[in-house]
Amino acid sequence: MPVGSSHTATATARHVINITVHGIGPAVREFDPGEDKTWVSIAQFEQLLDAAEGRTDVRIKFDDGNASDVEIALPRLIERGLTAEFFLLAGTLGDRGRIDQGGVRELLAAGMTIGSHGWAHRDWRRIDSVQAREELDDAPRVLSELTGRPVSHVAIPFGSYDRRVLRRLREAGTTRAYTSDGGRSRPNSWLQARTSLRHDMDAHCIAHVLDPDTSLVRRTRDTAARTIKRVRP
Ligand SMILES: [Zn+2]
Repeated sequence: MPVGSSHTATATARHVINITVHGIGPAVREFDPGEDKTWVSIAQFEQLLDAAEGRTDVRIKFDDGNASDVEIALPRLIERGLTAEFFLLAGTLGDRGRIDQGGVRELLAAGMTIGSHGWAHRDWRRIDSVQAREELDDAPRVLSELTGRPVSHVAIPFGSYDRRVLRRLREAGTTRAYTSDGGRSRPNSWLQARTSLRHDMDAHCIAHVLDPDTSLVRRTRDTAARTIKRVRP
């Protein structure tokens, strides 16, 4: 785990905002259904980084192990002194458009951390026990062998979970599970929400995701102002 200012913030920040990035830039493989909705341009990704810079309460996560994690994201993270957590699909390593072993080594060498996104991007609410073993036990084990580090943080594919999925994750030794439920999380909770960067988000929208409080305060103030106006004669 990288130490430094972000490590200190883990202990002190009351809430964190977890943002998930999927693919960036030109597509180099066929999209899975719906994947185009979370594929962003380099400009959008840089808008996110600009907004996240200096924010110890913002955590950047990458899902799906796309090659763009290494080719596009990594140099830009390094340039800004940012770190991120990359959730890889153990069963797709080295596939066309996906991270390969060399890419994993590059991420580690730059101080990035690796988590598991399972084996084959299945919906964990709809898998049998054999597939569950592959997704929840084999995938983190393979990634751990590859990285030489414990891999116990997991990002749930499609954000699809129920009580049975969470129980299986706990049984598999997962020490942190990430959903796609959106909103803020407590920095040390076992289950943490994330918000996906989407193809239709501009800088304004990204700022809103990173600062939900600002808009809430403004909304509350506006409502209060309207109420006062109403009661005035
Ligand atoms: Zn995914």
